[in-house]
This record gives sequence, structure tokens and C-alpha cells, in this order.
Amino acid sequence: MNTIDKKNILIVEDEPQISRFLQLELEHENYTCSICADGRDALSTALEHDFDLIILDVMLPSLNGIEVLRRLRQVKQTPVIILTARDQVVDKVTGLDIGANDYMTKPFAIEELLARIRLHTKNSVRAGSDLVCGLLTVNADARAANYGGRPIDLTKKEFDLLLYLMQHRNVVVSREKLLDEVWGFDFYGSTNVVDVYIRYLRSKIDNVFKVDVIETVRGAGYVIR
Ligand code: CA
Repeated sequence: MNTIDKKNILIVEDEPQISRFLQLELEHENYTCSICADGRDALSTALEHDFDLIILDVMLPSLNGIEVLRRLRQVKQTPVIILTARDQVVDKVTGLDIGANDYMTKPFAIEELLARIRLHTKNSVRAGSDLVCGLLTVNADARAANYGGRPIDLTKKEFDLLLYLMQHRNVVVSREKLLDEVWGFDFYGSTNVVDVYIRYLRSKIDNVFKVDVIETVRGAGYVIR
């Protein structure tokens, strides 16, 4: 993936262990991170630069997260996930009311936060950007896929299915969800069609390149990691 396509995330958190942990996890997932430990600093940084997403702690020095969000929303719609302490129900409600896109309660599971970040940055996929997983690359705009530079010839439905799985990398997606998202809710048929198309994809990717790109999670669905 080109550096230019990396998504920029602003971490606003005054506890250094948490912000450091988030930074390491996010950079591992190929995001670029900036960190602010103070509310006023965070607000000016968020206004000055265009981030793909902001992770915003509520309890902050100088200006709390709710106030940072309120002022940010007067100007910008950058996706925001607020971090609240356990049982701060008021903060969650207020945060959502004034335009937070999501919230996480501390302590949180990093996998869940990463899944929510993917969800809320999905729409900010820039034109021409590639989705990459190992050697597999999928480009939504060009509707093209390749493995290590070797093109994969896919039908429309096969491509749609692969694209959806790539857009939700590391998330196990159920057959029902795939049927809804790729075939549409008005599709009359059984979820077996999903298995059939997964087989088609495997015959064109896994079998050809001798890899195991699409993983079956017994009783749960499919995932590309
Ligand atoms: Ca804090």
C-alpha cells in the first residue's frame, strides 16, 4: 500500500500508556497516527489537519472530550469514536447527541476498536486506493484484483464478494451477512450460494497461487486475514 493511501488517525488521550498502546496497534494495522494529550491541543490539531478518524477520550486536561467534539462539529464532520470510562452513561449519550459516530467503554478489546475504526473509515476510502492483504490487492474503482501482481480474473459477483471480505479484513463475516451485503436483501435463495461463490474464489486464488487467503471459521462464516 502506498504511504499516500494510509489513513490518518488522531489519538486524543492523556494517559501515555493507553495512547502508546493505541499508536502501536494502529501503526501495526498500517494507519498513520498523531497523538494529543490535551483537549485544546487536540481541538486545534483536529481543525488544522484532515484526519480520517479521531479517537477521543472524554476525561482530558484543559478541555474535556465532549467540549472538543462540540466545537469540532461546528466546523467538521471527521468521524469520532469517543472513549468513556465504565458507567459514564451520560458521556456516551451526550457524545452521541452532539455527533460522535461511536463510543468505546474503557477497558476495551483492541480488536473491537479496530473493527469500529475500519467501519467508520470505510467511506473515506480515497479514489484509486488499493485494499491490500499480504500479496492480495483489490481495487474497488478499477474492479481489479491481483495476487503478487498477477491478475485474477473474476466475475462480477465473485469480485463483489472478494471486495466485501477485503473491506472487512480480520472480521469473520457470516453467510447471512454476505448474502445480505453482496446479493442484497431481496435475493431469494439459500446461503449455500455463498459457499458456492467462496469455492469459485478459492479455485481462482487459493488453488492457483497455492495460498490460503479465505479462511472458513466453522459455524461462524468466512474471513480474510
Ligand atoms: Ca483521560
